Amino acid sequence: MSKNHFKVLILGAGSGGVSVASRLKKSISAQDIGIVEPAENHFYQPLWTLVGAGIVQKEKTKRAMSKVIPSGVSWIKDRVKNVDAPARKVTCESGKILSYDFLLVATGLKLDWNKIKGVEGHLGKDGLCSIYQFEDAEKTAQMLQSFKGGEAIFTMPPVPIKCAGAPQKIMYLAEEIFQKNGVRANSKVTFAVAGKVIFGVPSFAAPLMQVAARKKIDLKFSHKLVEVKAAEHMAVFEKTTESQVDGQVKTSTELISQHYDLLHVVPPMSAYDYVRESNLAFTAGPQTGWLKVDQFTLQHQDHGNIFGIGDVTGVPNSKTGAAIRKQAPVVAQNMLSVIAGQKPTALYDGYASCPLITGVGKVILAEFGYDGKLMPSFPMDMTKERRSMWILKKDLLPPMYWNGMMTGRM
Ligand SMILES: Cc1cc2nc3c(=O)[nH]c(=O)nc-3n(C[C@H](O)[C@H](O)[C@H](O)COP(=O)(O)OP(=O)(O)OC[C@H]3O[C@@H](n4cnc5c(N)ncnc54)[C@H](O)[C@@H]3O)c2cc1C
Repeated sequence: MSKNHFKVLILGAGSGGVSVASRLKKSISAQDIGIVEPAENHFYQPLWTLVGAGIVQKEKTKRAMSKVIPSGVSWIKDRVKNVDAPARKVTCESGKILSYDFLLVATGLKLDWNKIKGVEGHLGKDGLCSIYQFEDAEKTAQMLQSFKGGEAIFTMPPVPIKCAGAPQKIMYLAEEIFQKNGVRANSKVTFAVAGKVIFGVPSFAAPLMQVAARKKIDLKFSHKLVEVKAAEHMAVFEKTTESQVDGQVKTSTELISQHYDLLHVVPPMSAYDYVRESNLAFTAGPQTGWLKVDQFTLQHQDHGNIFGIGDVTGVPNSKTGAAIRKQAPVVAQNMLSVIAGQKPTALYDGYASCPLITGVGKVILAEFGYDGKLMPSFPMDMTKERRSMWILKKDLLPPMYWNGMMTGRM
């Protein structure tokens, strides 16, 4: 009979869940750890940007889940439907009920395609593409290569999203593909951003504005994609305008329709519904809907035996795999402290990193923590485009991920 009680139960075997499982396994028996995960494969998503540009084969980003989950740890191949935190029980989609002493929530986030009317069913055709899904990343590469010129629009939804730099990284690579294929001169490239800035950290926004100007990219801020009329190749944006009336800021919105020949779509994102439905999420403030953890210890604010890691957490950082690299040792150490009856003392400083690809062979490595504090790992001006950081992103980070992060060595 399969086991249904675990000392530590982990929800999700993505970057965060596997990193922590590997670390915990060094201190507690693997038999005491269970992971609930429905997917057959684990993905190294940071390479999907390069898949979308035709530089990396999509298969390089995928590994069988059975090979990634640490040996000895029980894999419950199921999907979490509900967590009853007071009873310490998890109900799965199959009806299976698991119990735990300590829980790690690591289910990442969901892509809310349904929040953009008309997109579903059209990705990969009708000029619509996205690097945010495994299958679609490769189709993006094919569509960029076969682009014959015209209106190419790249969208950026409201934050938080995972890797907030990716929507513009693929645009810079696409612009180079258009140059190479001789269609740039008869194309207009537009970056339609729901927010007011190109990147959330001013030190990196400044050089990115220069990159966009150099590449003659038309920047449209306060433009949120709300609908796609695929048959007509029309994108509908909600444009927000702020004006001063009697010393007060007034906001008005209008809908603007724009023809496209190619539309790269990034959807809004949120935590999976079960997090909110299980009363584990923030119910007010900017982190509403995301897992209610302390931003430093990553311990749940209402349940001391629950922790969170990665994209699901409601912390004011940038949702990246790089953030998880710094969160994993903190979470593992704090969980072990709590298991030993002590207080969690390890603290996460909000570190995240985004290798901002601005073209083939060029990367600005943005590294920052809470409140946009710069946290460079290298002693040089990191606001500059560098070939060395391209090599780091493309060739060094993937093996560091598979052999270091996933095995708990780094
Ligand atoms: C296009 C793109 C480019 C990116 N570029 C970078 C980059 O350059 N640098 C960087 O650091 N990061 C980058 N990222 C972000 C990075 O990949 C994510 O932040 C990271 O993978 C999040 O890890 P996670 O463990 O929180 O979630 P994931 O790795 O997404 O894993 C979540 C897991 O939970 C499982 N799950 C979901 N729901 C349930 C459920 N109900 N029950 C059980 N299991 C469930 C899923 O199947 C999945 O295996 C990029 C992401 C994308 C998409």
